[in-house]
Amino acid sequence: MSEKYDVIVIGSGPAGYVAAIRAAQLGLKTACVEKWTNDAGSVVNGGTCLNVGCIPSKALLDSSHRYHDAHDGFDQHGINTGDLSINVPEMIKRKEKIVAQMSGGITGLFKSNKVTSILGYGKLLAGKKVEVTDNDGGSTVYEADNVVIATGSVPVNIPVAPVNPADNNIVVDSTGALEFQEVPKRLGVIGAGVIGLELGSVWSRLGSEVVCLEAMDSFLAMMDQQIAKETKKILTKQGLDIRLGCRVTGSEVKGEEVEVSYLDSNGEEQKQTFDKLIVCVGRRPFTEGLLAEDSGVKLDERGFIFVDDNCATTVSGVWAIGDVVRGPMLAHKGSEEGVVVAERIAGQKAMMNYNIIPNVIYTHPEVASVGQTEEQLKADGVEYNVGTFPFLAIGRAVAADSQDGMVKMIADAKTDRILGCHIVGPSASDLVQQVAIGMEFGSTAEDIGMTVFGHPTFSEAVKEAALSVHGHAIHMPNRKKRK
Ligand code: FAD
Ligand code: NAD
Repeated sequence: MSEKYDVIVIGSGPAGYVAAIRAAQLGLKTACVEKWTNDAGSVVNGGTCLNVGCIPSKALLDSSHRYHDAHDGFDQHGINTGDLSINVPEMIKRKEKIVAQMSGGITGLFKSNKVTSILGYGKLLAGKKVEVTDNDGGSTVYEADNVVIATGSVPVNIPVAPVNPADNNIVVDSTGALEFQEVPKRLGVIGAGVIGLELGSVWSRLGSEVVCLEAMDSFLAMMDQQIAKETKKILTKQGLDIRLGCRVTGSEVKGEEVEVSYLDSNGEEQKQTFDKLIVCVGRRPFTEGLLAEDSGVKLDERGFIFVDDNCATTVSGVWAIGDVVRGPMLAHKGSEEGVVVAERIAGQKAMMNYNIIPNVIYTHPEVASVGQTEEQLKADGVEYNVGTFPFLAIGRAVAADSQDGMVKMIADAKTDRILGCHIVGPSASDLVQQVAIGMEFGSTAEDIGMTVFGHPTFSEAVKEAALSVHGHAIHMPNRKKRK
């Protein structure tokens, strides 16, 4: 038996590393176990988000957006670029540098906060003991008063399109799609969800012909459908070929390409050949080798670790957070749970508001939402008012050639409290956060409408949408009637 800790966190993704840092800040003796290593065999902290998720995808989205802008958007500003080309290996190298910087940053934060970093595979034993197996197969058992499970998630595999690196990395998951060394001429994407749209956009901007095969009949089914419809229109105009209601029935790698068979929305058999195929049909919780039979921790029917509203598992003193538990698979949701759990361990009464978690798709323009959709409110029988405002009537958006999209604000019909906000448009990620803050303070649409917004800013669309809830938007184009 080795050292005893107040808190051992298993997994150093955005849920685990934040929990570890907060616990250490609160004076608890904390260790964080991580199995991920680099080529040199050193621990890699930061999990999916920093290494193969949020950060590298945004790095490539940024590079590809700059290229696309220079290619298609500079002329009208009078900027001549001459012959333009993209050096994909350089772009990937930049992404890797950013990943190394961010991941190294967590290792630095662990040191400065006195979190002990333990390299190895963690397994929860009975009695809040954690067995850590290192790369050489040696194991050490640590004891803790509290264990926080933050082992995250991995991509879902489908038998009709197995990801097999032995086939020259032609059929890949999101991790493989962040590593292409050249622009695939024909890129297939199975699943037009968040990853499909973000990574499809990256390669489309660099010149790939992108076809997204989506099983559902509706686009971005969980989002507000007015915004989803507008988003589909914009992305289709950009060149993404989004085919809804498609059932993939098989795929065959033939040399350097892959042939995909699917039934289209009319039930007709189709075949399409691609140079690369990204499979991004969701992620599943990762618990392999994590729980000893007598650990006492229970999973739910979908394989997530079962927790209560405060992330407590079925074993007292064992907690679970992030992608491995219910709720949206988002980095900020996991981080917030990490803070709540650390503070609860320290005896505080922290809580998290699951009703106000912003959700962003980092296409261009971005798509962002917080709170409830119109469809959810209808289903719940809630009476509401809606205000929308288009970016084409926002001076800053026109000046920046970013007039696609709109802000949609939904407020309770009786109290006027904001129930949801859904945006497709420039800087939607930052705009929706302003509304999220308002919602946390119980803001009404009128409160936002009465707030002075700087001019010219994209955020004026938020104010105008709030005014529009009551028919008072000032710059509303094509108004039929004014109240
Ligand atoms: P993870 O980040 O998955 O971390 C879990 C860690 O636990 C890993 O490091 C793993 O090695 C380690 N681990 C697992 N089992 C063990 C064990 N037994 N012992 C030791 N270590 C173990 N979310 C956003 O909010 N915004 C985005 O823009 C965004 N973009 C994304 C883009 C892509 C391409 C992908 C794939 C995901 C993206 N996500 C985004 C989702 C986000 O990455 C996840 O929600 C987030 O990483 C979950 O955090 P986590 O800490 O729960 O798990
Ligand atoms: P997703 O759930 O967003 O999208 C998966 C899509 O695949 C869905 O539209 C689904 O209907 C479709 N699908 C499922 N099975 C299919 C099949 N057999 N054939 C065709 N389509 C099929 O999942 P994702 O895009 O894989 O992303 C995984 C998770 O990672 C998401 O839950 C998301 O929360 C997180 N993520 C977040 C961000 C962000 O916040 N910007 C970015 C990337 C990933």
